[in-house]
Amino acid sequence: MIPEVAVLRLGHRPERDQRVTTHVGLVARAFGARRMLLAAHDPGVVRSIRDVVARWGGAFQVEGDVGWRRCLVDWKAAGGTVVHLSMYGLDLTEVIDRVRACDPVLVVVGAEKVPGEVYGLADYNVAVTHQPHSEIAGLAVFLDRLFEGRELLIEYPDAQIHVLPSERGKVALGPAEEE
Ligand code: SAM
Repeated sequence: MIPEVAVLRLGHRPERDQRVTTHVGLVARAFGARRMLLAAHDPGVVRSIRDVVARWGGAFQVEGDVGWRRCLVDWKAAGGTVVHLSMYGLDLTEVIDRVRACDPVLVVVGAEKVPGEVYGLADYNVAVTHQPHSEIAGLAVFLDRLFEGRELLIEYPDAQIHVLPSERGKVALGPAEEE
């Protein structure tokens, strides 16, 4: 079974987290999640991720202004599983087999200090090592372990841009992509 995954981004600060939160969305999309829920008001981030979906394809969805507490409670009430990524949690390697049997899965990542309530509401608090690093790396590794590498094979037949594997150069079909 391949679980349906959504990512909830907590604690986004529009004045300083735009790039990181956008990358959370891009990683969520590229590594197999179906949507990102942004628990903040930042239309610019929502728009930039939607722009990527329009050009690079797929049906990834992003939604802003999400109330995180209601989102967690409703997700669990509907039978979903909540996984909160935190360096304080259980080892990823210890719990990933159990999480893989759950569907759908909401993966929660923080920015600034995560409210203690989240740790109690989560079905699993999961550490990707017990070292401080980043929501981007934590999410990428978690999704790759969850999907066991299948996410690396996703194709986007509706994309406007297609990159072709190249040993040295850069080969892309479609409108030029700014760096
Ligand atoms: N200082 C904040 C706190 O203690 O709540 C967290 C800051 S951290 C840069 C932002 C997010 O990255 C965390 O909320 C967590 O989701 C993720 N993260 C960072 N290191 C992690 C780790 N070792 N394992 C899992 N997630 C991690």
